[in-house]
Amino acid sequence: MNSRRGFLRDLAAAAAQVGSAAREATAEPVAPASFPLSDAELDRYGRQLALPEWGLAQQAALREARVLVVGTGALGSPVALYLAGAGVGRLGILDDDAVELSNLHRQLLHFTPDVGVPKAASAAAKLRFLNPDIVIEPYQVRLEPANAGALVEGQDLVVDCSDAFATRYAVNAACCAARVPFVEAGVSGFTGLVMSVRPGETACYRCAFPAAPADAPGCAEAGVLGPAAGVVGSLQALEALRLLGGVEGALLDGFLQIDLLGAAFVRVRTTRRPGCPDCGAL
Ligand SMILES: [Zn+2]
Repeated sequence: MNSRRGFLRDLAAAAAQVGSAAREATAEPVAPASFPLSDAELDRYGRQLALPEWGLAQQAALREARVLVVGTGALGSPVALYLAGAGVGRLGILDDDAVELSNLHRQLLHFTPDVGVPKAASAAAKLRFLNPDIVIEPYQVRLEPANAGALVEGQDLVVDCSDAFATRYAVNAACCAARVPFVEAGVSGFTGLVMSVRPGETACYRCAFPAAPADAPGCAEAGVLGPAAGVVGSLQALEALRLLGGVEGALLDGFLQIDLLGAAFVRVRTTRRPGCPDCGAL
């Protein structure tokens, strides 16, 4: 074990040097001077630190980050699991629903004994088992226009895993107003979408989709296989880590359109709309 830790420390030091060189060129997150990784952290995050794109600076940024995950359902489950596992220091999870039997085939944070339990509590329990070194903050509330501003204020990133257009537009408006970066996603049947937004810099969700579709079927009508939601949620989690760690290639000024029946991923470009009611004045 000691030699392995030695290897990981060497690797982390090398990653820091690479990160230092890269920061000069790309203004990536800067690791605080007092950032010692404990042996347990080196073990826990070693496979991330082994990546040339993910060094001490990225891990430090993650540990300092405050992230809100809206919804702990089919998308929120993989998102919260991956962000907790990766070491996001303060992870808020928001859901006002209780676990139902019909959720379990796709909502991996919730198990059969959790039926009837508030999802925020069910999710928090699993995430604390997964990573006891981070802070999990469960909120048993529904995000609405009236409370959205207070909920997103002070967050470094919001990941919208809700399943309602009204919630998406409320997240969009609040994050734009507070200039908090966020990741949107949706899944229906075998199709999905993922989009990242840096308010004031890149097209927002309303720039890309000025109005909700009139007759979009809900999950109960359209149906979904668990892994299809898992793919979209995993891409959303990856996008969140990309934004937090300053890793290039984020889905900004556009979105990824996902067709899981045809195994096709298409990147669609968008631009900011000058008259956008949410971000036009930023
Ligand atoms: Zn906009």
